[in-house]
Amino acid sequence: MDKWIDLRSDTVTCPTEAMREAMGQAEVGDDVYGEDVTVSRLEAVAAEKMGKEAGLLVASGTMGNLVALLTHTHRGEEVLVEAEAHIYYYEVGGMAALAGVMPRLLRSEKGVVTTGHLREALRPADLHLPRTTLLCLENTHNRAGGTVASVQQMREVTSLAREYGLRVHLDGARIFNAAVALGVPASELAKEADSVQFCLSKGLAAPVGSLLVGDKEWIDQARKWRKTVGGGMRQAGVIAAAGLVALESMVDRLAEDHRLARVLAEGLAGMPGILIDMGTVQTNIVVFDVSGTGMAAPAFVTALKERGVKCNAFSPNTVRMVTHKDVDEGDIQRTLEIVREMLRC
Ligand SMILES: *Cc1c(COP(=O)(O)O)cnc(C)c1O
Repeated sequence: MDKWIDLRSDTVTCPTEAMREAMGQAEVGDDVYGEDVTVSRLEAVAAEKMGKEAGLLVASGTMGNLVALLTHTHRGEEVLVEAEAHIYYYEVGGMAALAGVMPRLLRSEKGVVTTGHLREALRPADLHLPRTTLLCLENTHNRAGGTVASVQQMREVTSLAREYGLRVHLDGARIFNAAVALGVPASELAKEADSVQFCLSKGLAAPVGSLLVGDKEWIDQARKWRKTVGGGMRQAGVIAAAGLVALESMVDRLAEDHRLARVLAEGLAGMPGILIDMGTVQTNIVVFDVSGTGMAAPAFVTALKERGVKCNAFSPNTVRMVTHKDVDEGDIQRTLEIVREMLRC
């Protein structure tokens, strides 16, 4: 294949020239000794953008969420989390295996947990029940198709959680996609949460890294847990330098990814056998049902791969495509042509 059109994820994005340059010139030190000024700068900028006191660079979103769980909870406690949330679905059972917490699953409306859904899971204190300590939210919601919870929705559900004495962690791997889609600063979405995890390595195109933000005392504890799980990094300034470029220059362009996702979804929606809930196409993720084509999702994905397009089977009948900075309008039009040819329509 001359050039793949890779729509598997926005994680496939490669660092920009500006990032590589910044990485080459980064001032570094031993960050475990707190001496890497570039890491410290990234942590400060991240905290500021999220309206929190402090930040912590971690190796991945998965590590950020795990460290958050370890910092917020004790073993045997219950964590309320949406049934298809990444932290429950895709993080290798780390919440159980390493944090030792019990997930209690919440329903949602297209990935958005409302007060109604939360109320269904809240229980009065009882000798038989585990202690419930944390609510985890996800914005944008990956498996729901990149759906966005509004500032108002975040506010309502977190305020109910507070009434019940819960802390709130926001898995904001793609929080900037949510912010751009809503036209609000990310800090507005982060405001009600005690902690937020967001990724530099997805649509923002940095090669490595996620940030955890929260108040200073909480981040101090999280820093110890990061060390516990082997996440203390040394001259990590080379990574942080790319992260700074990502935060400074890659956020606004996410709107283009959202536009292309819309073009892709509208094109696919017109094809026989393909079913898309256009209401879920709010950011850069397009999830569609292919059962009407007579192909199951894995066969559909394999057939597309033979024609030069990579994407992921998301369930037995659904396929996910993700737009990002390394695909352009031409690639999206070409993808639509390839699917059309494949379905002979
Ligand atoms: C990708 C993702 C993560 C995990 O990030 P990694 O860096 O891949 O570990 C966490 N939450 C959500 C919602 C994600 O989409």
